[in-house]
Amino acid sequence: MRAVVTTPGEFGAGGFAVEHLPDPVPGPGELVLRVAANGICGSDLSTAPFLPAGTIMGHEFAGEVVGVGADDADVTHSFRIGDPVAAMPVIGCHRCRACLTGDVARCPSARTLGLGVLPGGLAEFVVVGAAESVLLDGIDPVDGALVEPLAVGLHAVTRAAVRPGDRVLVLGAGPVGLAALHWLSRGVAIDPVCSDPSPGRRAAALDLGATSVCTPDDLHGHVGGGFDVVVECVGKPGMIAAAIDAVATHGTVVIAGVCLDTDSFMPVAGVVKETTMHFVSYYTTSEFRTAAAELSKGAIGSSTLVSEIAGLAETDRVFRELSAPNDHRKVLIAPAVATVG
Ligand SMILES: [Zn+2]
Ligand SMILES: [Zn+2]
Repeated sequence: MRAVVTTPGEFGAGGFAVEHLPDPVPGPGELVLRVAANGICGSDLSTAPFLPAGTIMGHEFAGEVVGVGADDADVTHSFRIGDPVAAMPVIGCHRCRACLTGDVARCPSARTLGLGVLPGGLAEFVVVGAAESVLLDGIDPVDGALVEPLAVGLHAVTRAAVRPGDRVLVLGAGPVGLAALHWLSRGVAIDPVCSDPSPGRRAAALDLGATSVCTPDDLHGHVGGGFDVVVECVGKPGMIAAAIDAVATHGTVVIAGVCLDTDSFMPVAGVVKETTMHFVSYYTTSEFRTAAAELSKGAIGSSTLVSEIAGLAETDRVFRELSAPNDHRKVLIAPAVATVG
């Protein structure tokens, strides 16, 4: 198969190249998917420099079942060759408390896909766990790559426990921020506000359900007495302080941005407001299924969330473009897309 692998860099991945590798074979309880599309995520941009060369990245993908492993744990029999499937980028032990409560990402023996442990979705084929897979009902498998980022946004919003009438601020209108806005706009928040420096992303935020947008510099004009809930979706140093600054007394801050740099903030700022902080990642199995069902209903799709679909050989260019300030929404890499030039 063709797969995108990380190439050696200064202290980790320096770039990406397409290589020919053996086709994967499913083990017990596993499926092989022919990848229809794989989304590139902000967390990919932050983790790539720390991954060993030769890693197949990609954790937001969907595709068609082309291989079904032996029926371990009574799950693979639910899948047939040709089924469209989205899979969580993690395989759990299926026996521990985390797995049994659907919080597979917190399984002590969880094996992640696309982060240097198991190969990810930036390839023609990927091996996934059948127990971590969901059938896509009436969804184009390319759109199925959006299940994962939508589930991330749903999990962040769920952990925020927004109450009716809460004033909510989303910091950052990248894919996670946009997904959070989608779920907020379908919930009980009043007029969610979104802040982002990019005009294109602010326009996307309005499309996804923000009723008001502003630049980070303008935020103070919108804060008033503060927001009851602030969802941080940027993941850069300084954002935790910005979130605590914007939250109201007794408010909640949810940190969904993946920041791999050291950050600092003044604890007293949260102490005097008695701020509740939640650091979040991933989603539960049921949130992943809810995100797939949302796509099935046509409530959201690639027309609002995706700004480009590129071929495997474009991965290096896409990572570089997304690492600089840009107006992109979600960029998908689709192995079937031929690269021009
Ligand atoms: Zn992601
Ligand atoms: Zn487990």
